[in-house]
Amino acid sequence: MNAPIQKVVIAGGGSSGWMAAAVLSRFFGKQVSITLVESSAIGTIGVGEATIPPIKTFNDVLGINESDFLKQTRGTIKLGIEFENWGKEGDRYMHAFGEVGRNLGIASFQHYWRRAKQSGVGGDFWDYSLNYQAAKHGKFTPLPLIPQTKLPGLNHAYHIDAGLYAQMLRGYSEERGVKRIDATIQHVLRNEEKGDVKGLQLDNGTIVAGDLFIDCTGFRALLIGETLGVDYEDWSHWLPCDRAVAVPSERADTIAPYTRSIAHEGGWQWRIPLQHRTGNGLVYSHRHLSEDEACHKLLSNLDTAPLDEPRPIRFTTGRRRQQWSQNVVSLGLSSGFLEPLESTSLHLVQQGLTRLIKLFPHQRIQPSDIEEYNRQSTLEFEQIRDFIILHYHLNEKKDSPFWSECRESPKPESLLRRIELFAGSGRVFREQDELFSETAWEQVMLGQGITPEDFHPLANNLSDDELKEFLASWKRIVDKTVVQLPNHDDFLKPFQ
Ligand SMILES: Cc1cc2nc3c(=O)[nH]c(=O)nc-3n(C[C@H](O)[C@H](O)[C@H](O)COP(=O)(O)OP(=O)(O)OC[C@H]3O[C@@H](n4cnc5c(N)ncnc54)[C@H](O)[C@@H]3O)c2cc1C
Repeated sequence: MNAPIQKVVIAGGGSSGWMAAAVLSRFFGKQVSITLVESSAIGTIGVGEATIPPIKTFNDVLGINESDFLKQTRGTIKLGIEFENWGKEGDRYMHAFGEVGRNLGIASFQHYWRRAKQSGVGGDFWDYSLNYQAAKHGKFTPLPLIPQTKLPGLNHAYHIDAGLYAQMLRGYSEERGVKRIDATIQHVLRNEEKGDVKGLQLDNGTIVAGDLFIDCTGFRALLIGETLGVDYEDWSHWLPCDRAVAVPSERADTIAPYTRSIAHEGGWQWRIPLQHRTGNGLVYSHRHLSEDEACHKLLSNLDTAPLDEPRPIRFTTGRRRQQWSQNVVSLGLSSGFLEPLESTSLHLVQQGLTRLIKLFPHQRIQPSDIEEYNRQSTLEFEQIRDFIILHYHLNEKKDSPFWSECRESPKPESLLRRIELFAGSGRVFREQDELFSETAWEQVMLGQGITPEDFHPLANNLSDDELKEFLASWKRIVDKTVVQLPNHDDFLKPFQ
């Protein structure tokens, strides 16, 4: 590309297509024309209901307020993800968003808590998590700070109807001039000389020409994969689940402000409460469970009556080797897929868009910008991949071929190094701009059964009595705050 970008074409109108349209129209709507092509005949993947806290920033940047968002997406609050039966049958822990306890200087709270445990004075780790306690008591109100203090309050995300969110973003984008075309792309036309994409030929006979193309065509990856031939790096040997069955069920009487992830013999099941229904699905490995068995397992483990037949979905965990190639940037499922255990897919779309805005071409597309985009995307995918593998790897389930394989198969060096560090001295480091915080890693490693051998010597700076009071005072603050919070169900009433 040797000329400034004038026409951006987005192929695909699932969550990623409309997120892209919203962000690009917000930032570049006055400088470029934006066209989105989607096919109602093909439809979208139709899942993707759990989010993580950075989505609040995404909405803030677009100027979408929380009340409108909760109303329009039939959304509920998510304070964390509870993992049931993951380490072994009967285990239960939460990856609660936000901090647990309070770090003292350089050493994280976990070291003080570990020392207190060894002296027999510490409670359960999650006694000191405001998010966890609020989640388990079904409480919520927006609370950036704990009242009368400067201490961080609740850190929340949402459960949403992703189809309604895409509709909301469509309205937002069309108001800002995005042109939508409902048609099926039949051919992707390439510039013979340079090999980049020059247009999309549609089944209605028209050609949509562009300078920059955003591939949001889902697993089909019509532009980046089928047309440009960019390879897919398969990570199934690290994350063996490759199928899901999904089914909505009736809404629950009480709406829990957290996601449930329940491990089964050949995979795990999600339960995501929305205002009008519950989203359910079972993620599994086809080598260990048949589709019939998966459907049966899913249907026999619902809290409420199913509203439909289970819908099968196939996927391959991995990533596109270059997520930006020539004049095509891939976002969403076309760029790679990490299974939904930590609800990271919509976040990866958000991150891809942030990166694209930062590296948006001016006079021409610079190869060095493409390289930087791909370098950052690779690192981000690999860091999230390791965090997800962690949950599978640390299990003690000896009587299940699936879980034995998850435990015993080779793991990325980057992950093994982190596990070894934590198991030895209880230390965790958040690397570069990594998504998951030290507290997130600590919760999952503790929850999956690691007991660090040692703690940081700084924890010895407190006497036994001081340590006891430090933990007790923090627990008092958490308990007092939770008692005063309204019920999550009451919080949701104005949005229903
Ligand atoms: C089992 C499962 C559970 C998930 N759960 C979560 C979750 O809890 N949280 C989360 O963040 N993410 C989750 N995800 C991921 C999430 O669903 C996706 O990241 C998100 O929906 C974005 O999808 P997409 O827009 O890239 O693709 P799609 O939704 O598949 O959209 C593709 C678009 O391309 C269009 N298209 C395709 N081919 C053509 C063509 N030839 N012509 C015209 N248009 C075409 C389609 O019409 C559609 O509009 C989950 C995914 C799976 C598989």
